[in-house]
Amino acid sequence: MMETNQENIGITGTSKNLEDKDSCPPHPGFYKGLCLRCGQLVEDDGPMLSLDYITKDLKLGTRESDRQRKEDLKKLLREKKLILILDLDHTLLNSTRLADVSMEEEYLLRQADSIKDDPKRSLFKLDAMHMLTKLRPFVHTFLKEANMMYEMYIYTMAERSYALEIAKLLDPEKVYFNCKVISQADCTQRHQKGLDVVLGAENIVVILDDTEFVWQKHKENLILMERYHYFSSSCRQFGFSAKSLSELMKDEGESNEPGH
Ligand SMILES: [Mg+2]
Ligand SMILES: [Zn+2]
Repeated sequence: MMETNQENIGITGTSKNLEDKDSCPPHPGFYKGLCLRCGQLVEDDGPMLSLDYITKDLKLGTRESDRQRKEDLKKLLREKKLILILDLDHTLLNSTRLADVSMEEEYLLRQADSIKDDPKRSLFKLDAMHMLTKLRPFVHTFLKEANMMYEMYIYTMAERSYALEIAKLLDPEKVYFNCKVISQADCTQRHQKGLDVVLGAENIVVILDDTEFVWQKHKENLILMERYHYFSSSCRQFGFSAKSLSELMKDEGESNEPGH
């Protein structure tokens, strides 16, 4: 059976390790200010790790988060799995604001509308966000296969609303990521992605990201990805003057030769 992080943390009060009231304090962690073990309302209990991405207003102390990491490690070793952390933009997909769509890309807006009901589509118009998103070729196959070997997280510097919207496209049934979607607000250090907010053992983490800079403390875990640029705004942003894949009506991995 798949266990969610939320269940592991025992906020429902079912976790064995959290039952013994006599051992509080130290309080292992809090949900809406109430201790997960003894239920007391505690105003200030020193530094805590905020894990809003798992459950809003969830905070864990160092001891409890370390315990969670050990439990997760045991579980993953039993399942013969490692942890895979996936960046979104330029790693799994490319997005553009609708306002930045060039004339030569306008056909994509019509295309996105016409394939709206196709479950295998890779182009999405996110009306509420005023964005157009193109998944990298073979993303669905990749996720399906990676899921057999890894416990997977999304980890992006983008805002939470965007991260959740994209998670829905990548994983509509919530079988891959569930609540494991980490975004900018969860980071404990500005402009840096840290593994401190991941309740998994650092030595079994593999990271796929196109940006090395944000992983200063975890370079050994990082596999640097070649950037996926599909839209013209993305190419411009990175200083490429050539036509984008979208403008050429092609995609990554397709031959440049005419007629292919
Ligand atoms: Mg990126
Ligand atoms: Zn307590």
